[in-house]
Amino acid sequence: MNKGVEVARGKTKVLYASPDRVDACVVVSQDNITAGDGAKRNTIGGKGRLAALTTARVFRLLNACGVPSHYLSGGEDEDGNEMLVRRCSMIPIEVVVRGIAAGSYVKRNPGVKAGTVIAPHLVEYFFKDDANHDPQYTAERIIDEGIASPAELAQMTEVAGLVFNILAHAWKQQDVLLVDLKVEFGRTIEADGEGSPAGEILLADVIDNDSWRIWPAGDQAKMLDKQVYRNIAVPSEADLSAVKDKYEEVAERVGRFMRPTGGFVGIIMGSASDASHAERIAKALSALGLPSRRHVASAHKTPLYTLQKVSQIDAVLGRVVYITIAGRSNALSAFVDAASANPVIACPPPGSNFAGMDVLSSLSLPSGIASVVVLEPENAALAAAKMLAVDDTVLYGRVLVLQHRNRATVVEADERLNQQAAAPPPTNGKAASN
Ligand code: C5P
Repeated sequence: MNKGVEVARGKTKVLYASPDRVDACVVVSQDNITAGDGAKRNTIGGKGRLAALTTARVFRLLNACGVPSHYLSGGEDEDGNEMLVRRCSMIPIEVVVRGIAAGSYVKRNPGVKAGTVIAPHLVEYFFKDDANHDPQYTAERIIDEGIASPAELAQMTEVAGLVFNILAHAWKQQDVLLVDLKVEFGRTIEADGEGSPAGEILLADVIDNDSWRIWPAGDQAKMLDKQVYRNIAVPSEADLSAVKDKYEEVAERVGRFMRPTGGFVGIIMGSASDASHAERIAKALSALGLPSRRHVASAHKTPLYTLQKVSQIDAVLGRVVYITIAGRSNALSAFVDAASANPVIACPPPGSNFAGMDVLSSLSLPSGIASVVVLEPENAALAAAKMLAVDDTVLYGRVLVLQHRNRATVVEADERLNQQAAAPPPTNGKAASN
């Protein structure tokens, strides 16, 4: 990659200006490995390339889930240990998320055994200051010292939690427990010309095998991360080579995080008049990046044709969830469910006949039939996405991001309401003169 002047230098990476883009810079990961705030220091040939590869793969996964980061390109192939990233001024706080007690948490809380589950996960903040061993800061101190605004810190905390949950899911697919994780954030210095303004908070720095603790099969003794290096007082060449093997293994495993699982949703509607309901479902699926196929097939009028459609959809490569749409007497959902071993979500359109009691035909089912009912089209799409997300981390992450946005909407509505309540009443000229 083209590099300009050196902008900054850390323990394991060097940053250069990008001569091609003012809003970007080039991060070059080094072959250094350090512990104890730099007190122990070694070089492992090729570690920089593995760090960049791991980081690029993690950021690409997060970006695919809708979690923006500073990562733009590189790190994966011919660029070796170099990545192009958005230029940020770094916020000097390490945000640590813990799902399992380990490391400094156990030292600070001797009553808690390493390996204890921390649920819900815990977020801690450490001020970046090697000379003082990165002291722990409270949220109040970060805000009082002007390091981040309350809104920025809230965003950093939420995003760190999202990142932890996404990566925990990705690791779980390989029977590996994500114990804890450290992330850092920056503020963009320049707008990117594509609608992303300056001053935006972005996940920045790196997320590599130095940033987390990971325990295969939940067994601390099988750890694959940098803790292996921290635990060796004076590492020999053989020790460093064993550490490198773990970093190689982790970079390769992280390369499996985004495997395409090819899920899709088969939407079957009993009549063409259900098309608008199907359209809402397909739109909500597409917002989550989930493809769907729509068919009209009636259990009452075209049972053989419906069976044929189900067996054709079942035969397509990739995993499928059905959403069935049929009003009045809904035979379709149970019929499809009996014909397929794939999940079926009944989403009957609302009807006014019999005071809306049509819905009972979706609920009262014969034995051995397991179609579930979700009435709102968007919720039916979400239910299908959750089913397919069980082993698809990109989809799982998109569901997490959607839930995060829904939470933010509620909190913002509450803030708006209370700002209005706190505002002085509008002055009414007439009333004032009375
Ligand atoms: O040492 P401690 O238990 O506080 O570390 C929590 C998590 O943060 C671990 O995953 C560790 O690897 C990471 N960490 C880091 N950089 C630091 C301190 C901790 O990546 N300077």
